[in-house]
Amino acid sequence: MKKKLATVWLGGCSGCHMSLLDIDERLLEVAKLADIVKSPVVDGKEFPECDIALVEGALANAEHEEEIHVIRRKTKVLVAFGDCAVTGNVSALRNAIPKDVVLKRSYLEVPGTVGGLIPNQEIAPLIDRVRPLHEAVKVDYYLPGCPPSADLIFHVLFELLHDRAPVLDQEKLKYG
Ligand code: SF4
Repeated sequence: MKKKLATVWLGGCSGCHMSLLDIDERLLEVAKLADIVKSPVVDGKEFPECDIALVEGALANAEHEEEIHVIRRKTKVLVAFGDCAVTGNVSALRNAIPKDVVLKRSYLEVPGTVGGLIPNQEIAPLIDRVRPLHEAVKVDYYLPGCPPSADLIFHVLFELLHDRAPVLDQEKLKYG
């Protein structure tokens, strides 16, 4: 029976998902083994029950904090997908700066935003400190890289889709 696979994009740049697409024709092998029940292009209001979820990005706002708990509850195997999910990485660079300064800079000071407003309803409020997934929920596997290489992503997916634990040796962990 096919596994149910979800991919989720939280506080990240989507580069990890781009790298997933770089597995190219091997996507067909994944498609034989799994149904994509949720992804940035297979959207739905509710997060569905699934066997495997690749979660890109750190927890950066209140919505991410809620979402990750729902994902954890409904997912058998949760994978921290990429360095932002694993360590906070690029997303956590703002932790050194108070969030009101970050918002002011982003919405009021950079070219094209002068005279604008800091949205307080349309976007989820930033949390004080960006954090990696494992600080909020149990993570089953870590898939490092910024982004992880397509080969590494395929290896991890392929093993998990066969109910095997992926082995990340030094060679596979090469960034690239
Ligand atoms: Fe983007 Fe790198 Fe973070 Fe992936 S790990 S979301 S590629 S910054």
